[in-house]
Amino acid sequence: MSVRALSHPISVFVCGFEELDEQEQALLLVAADAMTKAQAPYSHYLVGAAVLDGDGHITAGCNVERCTYTQTTHAEQAAVDAMVVHGKSRKIQAVAVVGGPDGTINGPIERFPKGEVVASFDEIPAPSCGHCLQIIWENCRGDNKVKLYSWADGWVYITTIGDALPMKFGPNDLL
Ligand SMILES: [Zn+2]
Repeated sequence: MSVRALSHPISVFVCGFEELDEQEQALLLVAADAMTKAQAPYSHYLVGAAVLDGDGHITAGCNVERCTYTQTTHAEQAAVDAMVVHGKSRKIQAVAVVGGPDGTINGPIERFPKGEVVASFDEIPAPSCGHCLQIIWENCRGDNKVKLYSWADGWVYITTIGDALPMKFGPNDLL
């Protein structure tokens, strides 16, 4: 029996909001604003997401919980679906997610005190769930370099869809 190892390094970059360019900051601020609209009476976990598409448009989404739970809409899903409605290219360029428990985070940048930078992947705040990573990947059109931003504790964590979801199921798997 021969055994082969397939490895994939995963990188997450951490920076301050002020280090981002204008377009990146705009994307995060749209996500932060969307988070304030979240409907989360059961989990009290608020999430806002913003998608930058290939036309340069930004669409927003927030989580919308229903008491049945299974019918809950995730913020990233809402933002991607809004992009499909409003955009022409339907190609995702970048996604920003801002989230956290209600009462601890409230949107505007001045309310994000900088804590300690996390030490492990498990501690990165407000990552997209597997359900949403799959939804995002569907509209990346095979582009592994699409950036994912998460902003929750004063720091911005940046990775790519290729790093966040290394073993992807995509349209080509249906062929
Ligand atoms: Zn999700």
